[in-house]
Amino acid sequence: MTGRLFIISGSSGVGKGTLIKELLKKTDNLILSVSSTTRKPRLGEVHGINYFFVTKEEFENDIKKELFLEWAEFGGNKYGTNKKRVQEALLEGKNVLLEIEVQGAKQIKERMPEAITIFILPPTRDEIEKRLRGRGTETEEAIQKRLLAIEFESKESEQYDYKVVNDDIGRAVEEIFEIYKKHKG
Ligand code: 5GP
Repeated sequence: MTGRLFIISGSSGVGKGTLIKELLKKTDNLILSVSSTTRKPRLGEVHGINYFFVTKEEFENDIKKELFLEWAEFGGNKYGTNKKRVQEALLEGKNVLLEIEVQGAKQIKERMPEAITIFILPPTRDEIEKRLRGRGTETEEAIQKRLLAIEFESKESEQYDYKVVNDDIGRAVEEIFEIYKKHKG
């Protein structure tokens, strides 16, 4: 029996990282795939745990060697899912979780339609607007930009199997956990 591939996407700042951390605590046969990236590590990020931090040349070589299940460019950097690790884990019967952006999710879904895709959405646009304005630290321009990004993302989310609104961490984790239990291998 093989495992199931799960994909989680969502805008930055939506709390994906926390949701995934909580989900991993609740599951015993789900592993998070570690991607390669050309991005520089942020403070506290560890090579091999958060990402495999590689040079542009190394990344290009890995593309040529077809080592990626998918890869995409995001914010000027490249990110890719390591094919061998994912395939081996699935064959061992483990369920695998990818935390990747929309272009990568699309590539995988086309090739592996059995993969389950989940998009994490922020609470409603109105709620976000209220929060941003309430904070009082954002410029009007920044608020408008953020709201526009949310509209774009909610369009992108239409290609996903599930949409989960992160209005409350505990509730959202439960919802994702239910999806996981329903589809896990
Ligand atoms: P960050 O630089 O904030 O860690 O990640 C930026 C974006 O890249 C996030 O949306 C994240 O989900 C996405 N990402 C991380 N790893 C991969 C990957 O292997 N492939 C793709 N397509 N996107 C990734």
